[in-house]
Amino acid sequence: MPSPKPRATESAPPAGFGAKILDMARQLAQFSETPDGLTCTYLSPAHKAAAAQLRDWMQAAGLAAQIDAVGNVVGRYPSAAPAAKTLIVASHYDTVVNAGRFDGRLGILTALAVAEHLAGIGQPLPFHLDVIGFAEEEGVRFAAPYLGSSAIAGRFDAAVLQRSDKNGVRLESLLREQGVDRDAIQGLARPPEITPAAAYPGGEPLGGGCPSA
Ligand SMILES: [Zn+2]
Repeated sequence: MPSPKPRATESAPPAGFGAKILDMARQLAQFSETPDGLTCTYLSPAHKAAAAQLRDWMQAAGLAAQIDAVGNVVGRYPSAAPAAKTLIVASHYDTVVNAGRFDGRLGILTALAVAEHLAGIGQPLPFHLDVIGFAEEEGVRFAAPYLGSSAIAGRFDAAVLQRSDKNGVRLESLLREQGVDRDAIQGLARPPEITPAAAYPGGEPLGGGCPSA
């Protein structure tokens, strides 16, 4: 009687999968506003560098990737069917002060590793797969959380544009300096059929959540 195939082998991820995710988190944590600990708040130089790094990784993974008007990093592994629906897997890359390196980022990097694997083996999907790094969830700089996910969900509250950071920089002015106006933000809203309300229970974005580490 042949011995059964060990289950662990059947379900094991590709070799190096976890190590790659942990290494990307380590590299991303090097972009910090503080020399000790990790702090990466909305549209700081560290935040912009982290966004560029995420975009570069997504492009290297074979995704069509860009940084959108509010700073979300959006990478797409397209379906062969142009009219297919879209599955969004997302989490945030901004941090609290003195953050753990996996908070938020783990949800992006794990999805990125999966998308890279699918693209690498040419696995066709019946839906577009969008991996999104949300620019802002923690609300540290402008006391306005969920700036990134609310724009994608079509629920961006324009009133928060009038808020200022501790140095008196107004959010609207900061965005305008980068050529971003309200229309550009409103234009990020995905059609309801690809962002069902169920994907954002209680305003929390779908995806990695906030593992403390
Ligand atoms: Zn978090």
